[in-house]
Amino acid sequence: MSDHYVKVKVQLEQMKSFGEDAEKEGVDTEEQLPVSSPPASVSPDPSSTTIAGRDASNISITCKHRGKSRTKQGKDDKNSCGKDISDLSLHGSVVSAHDGKNLNRLGHERTLHIRGTGKILQGKSETNGNYVTIHASKNVQDMRREDGFKLPKKRRPVTVDTSKAKTSLEALKLSIKQLKWKEFPLGRRTACDIYWHGVSFHDNENIVSGQVNKFPGMIEMLRKINLSRAVRTMQELFPEEYDFYPRSWILPEEYQQFSTQIRMVKENDATVNPTFIVKPDGGSQGDGIYLIRDPSDLKLMAGSQAKQGVVQEYIQKPLLIDKLKFDIRLYVLIKSLEPLEIYIAKEGLTRFCTEPYQEPSQKNLSHVFMHLTNYSLNVHSGNFVHSDSQSTGSKRTLSSVLYRLAAKGVDIKKVWSDIIALVIKTVIAVVPELKVYYQADIPPGKPGPTCFQILGFDILLMKNLKPVLLEVNSNPSMRIEHEQEVAPGVFEYVPSPVDEDVKVGVIRDTLRLMDPGHKKPSTSQPRAAGFEHREEIPMEAETQERSPDEGALPSLCLKQVYPKYTKQFNYLRLVERIAALFIRFLGVKGNMRLGPTAFRTFIRTCKLSNSNFTMASVDILYIDITRRWSGTTPDSREAGNTHTHTHKQKHVYALKQKPSRRNNM
Ligand code: ADP
Repeated sequence: MSDHYVKVKVQLEQMKSFGEDAEKEGVDTEEQLPVSSPPASVSPDPSSTTIAGRDASNISITCKHRGKSRTKQGKDDKNSCGKDISDLSLHGSVVSAHDGKNLNRLGHERTLHIRGTGKILQGKSETNGNYVTIHASKNVQDMRREDGFKLPKKRRPVTVDTSKAKTSLEALKLSIKQLKWKEFPLGRRTACDIYWHGVSFHDNENIVSGQVNKFPGMIEMLRKINLSRAVRTMQELFPEEYDFYPRSWILPEEYQQFSTQIRMVKENDATVNPTFIVKPDGGSQGDGIYLIRDPSDLKLMAGSQAKQGVVQEYIQKPLLIDKLKFDIRLYVLIKSLEPLEIYIAKEGLTRFCTEPYQEPSQKNLSHVFMHLTNYSLNVHSGNFVHSDSQSTGSKRTLSSVLYRLAAKGVDIKKVWSDIIALVIKTVIAVVPELKVYYQADIPPGKPGPTCFQILGFDILLMKNLKPVLLEVNSNPSMRIEHEQEVAPGVFEYVPSPVDEDVKVGVIRDTLRLMDPGHKKPSTSQPRAAGFEHREEIPMEAETQERSPDEGALPSLCLKQVYPKYTKQFNYLRLVERIAALFIRFLGVKGNMRLGPTAFRTFIRTCKLSNSNFTMASVDILYIDITRRWSGTTPDSREAGNTHTHTHKQKHVYALKQKPSRRNNM
């Protein structure tokens, strides 16, 4: 058996066990109670916990949630920390470790302040100094009064580099203020805990620690062509599960298939008269979009210099409210790739068209205000309604729309769970390639930050209430102002309460979830080609422990959906295993492409070559594949929302016209 074979076998075994592990119910919260040497022996007595230690003044108690390799929650809580201790703050914040002085000052009385709970653990050392019995006691204020006990130093505020936040700056500032964290608007010479980028992972180069709010490669993965490809791969494997994405063809390469298929459909049934929407690859905010009824229209319009893009089946029967078409902007947080952690904002936005909807006909194809829901287009219609109310106007909260539907008898629970499924499945579709991008930018062994990202999902509800994915935005607008024409041709940004309510909540709660004080120290990002064997189950959004400073904050608006629903969706994570193989066979870490030699090795190791498929054919195949793909992966550093705003001109947008002013929402 060759070395390679053994390695591949091990890898496959690991993947198998990953699959099995991930299937397991993952309730594995851990309450750790590391005590400086020697190890602790802990009494399960809820009111009195005994810790064995040689030097009681050195006691350090850390209670962590969700560590790795642990046992079931209830059992663990009880055994290691005792019932009371399961109340401890999630970020391991029992304060005692370096409180030797304070403890000594109190003589034999040992007093531990549990951050976030206002509780005191009080202990007495035995004469031999080997045991400290601690028990829940009075609150901090009482102790302070009675013993002159000094409150432990406040946790140092989390630092956020906001120098590259661009249009999210206002909402970010408000969020940081609410959290009482520290903002660095001009960056900082020493490292920050969090870097907030307005466009891409590369906005600040050479970050070696902390967390960045963008993943490398996310912009590329979510461009219209790549998203369509990723979803199509999944549609081929799981057609029923991925029927929420309209049928799409990639332009120009699939123009022939598109044309032939539509001709055949029409020949088979003359009454079928579909409409298609053409979207340029790098476009956003309705930029360059147009509707067609026949493939030949596309050819005519695009001419010989066909641009890259997608042509997609147009959803002809959307759900209407007040006779208007609308779509949903949902905010989704990818908290971590490995293990995969997805959160959905419970509140989103809905964007309304400004002309009553009619099904597409040759006559109305160019009526943008009827067919396209983009804010950036409709805001220029005379009918656009700016409203401070959340339930009226051209931009409303998602909850107000759902309430309205519920009042009409719609089963909104079902709609919501279909939306959650759509989100999880879409993320599962893009994760494999995202991991390839990730390891290319932050290869194993290279110091780098960890990443998280807020995505904007654009979802349309069909008349039959089925949600349809339109696109995913890697840079959803986080603006909390909207433009208003204060005098003819003069525009000003004025506060938009609906945007502020939703977007500040999303940013603030993302920060709360990413709070380094709440995180375990272990890396949770994909640092190597293989999978982690155990899915890590983080805390539920609803049970996120608050630090004392967070006391006044509302409960989290972000709800964890993965791994919460691992059981239902894990079987779809098939392509990730192939991505793991690919990353493994890249040979050179920190790369995105398989070189010709690695490709040969890959074919040989997988025993794919034989007398009909020689190594010469392998080389030709390699050249073929790389040629085919060379045009489809533009450089990430070039991509992004790099437009500028101009207040001077006002264009009325028409289909196929370039908007001068951009705002994704
Ligand atoms: P952009 O990134 O330019 O906003 P989208 O894919 O979001 O591109 O499309 C713009 C708008 O066009 C959407 O907000 C929606 O109103 C409409 N739209 C897009 N795709 C479809 C579709 N397949 N069927 C019906 N309407 C669509």
